[in-house]
Amino acid sequence: MNPARRRAIFRRLQAQNPAPTTELEHHGPFELLVAVVLSAHTTDRSVNAATRKLFALANTPQAILALGVEGVKPYLKSVGLYNTKSQNLIALCKALVEQHGGQVPGTRDALEKLPGVGRKTANVILNMVFGEDTIAVDTHIFRVANRTGLAPGKTPREVEDELVATTPAPYRKNAHHWLILHGRYVCTARLPACPRCVIADLCEYTLKTPARALERSDAAVARRRASAGAVRGPRKRAYPAAPPSAGAPAPRAARRKG
Ligand code: SF4
Repeated sequence: MNPARRRAIFRRLQAQNPAPTTELEHHGPFELLVAVVLSAHTTDRSVNAATRKLFALANTPQAILALGVEGVKPYLKSVGLYNTKSQNLIALCKALVEQHGGQVPGTRDALEKLPGVGRKTANVILNMVFGEDTIAVDTHIFRVANRTGLAPGKTPREVEDELVATTPAPYRKNAHHWLILHGRYVCTARLPACPRCVIADLCEYTLKTPARALERSDAAVARRRASAGAVRGPRKRAYPAAPPSAGAPAPRAARRKG
């Protein structure tokens, strides 16, 4: 992809959502670190449901450590793999208390040595807490980067390196958020909403969804919702009524983080 097109893509994503951020609810670096660690292989929504209750009771490494593995398990049941995640969370808090005075460390090396923290989580923390221009590549970003042609790669690391190398500097800090939200709400895995996509004319994906296919899918979803409503009464929306970025369509498919 040529630099002018790449710049135009980020300019549009920025215009649509000038101040993007994570959908993981948190106050402060420690809560963010816990939320990101818990978000592996599950949705931000289920993480938020868990951490809302957990952080109300304990939101420091010391306080969570005091709860112990069995004490945190009931709070993590909604996030899946909660046995392993409970053990990892306690090990993480122990390491923070014993090695970092209860603080979230600010280097990649120290972060990646923490239990349950990999490169992707470290990138999120370095970006959001310490202001570095890192780009964490999850399943959404991996898909969007490959489809659009922004950063084709066979592995998340390849995509990350290409994105870091080619994203224009003014857009690098927020690139992670723009691409993840675009992948979550517009360029979805099953059926990308190309007819409603703000970067459709710039995207190099050759298998774009035709308008009629998207309309058929929307109609099927509406029918399923109407039928479920008729049986069970009005359902709470699974997602916000409007996506976090102005102008983007409401999400349809279930969200999964890589
Ligand atoms: S045009 Fe389609 S494939 Fe390309 S970014 Fe938009 S939704 Fe994704």
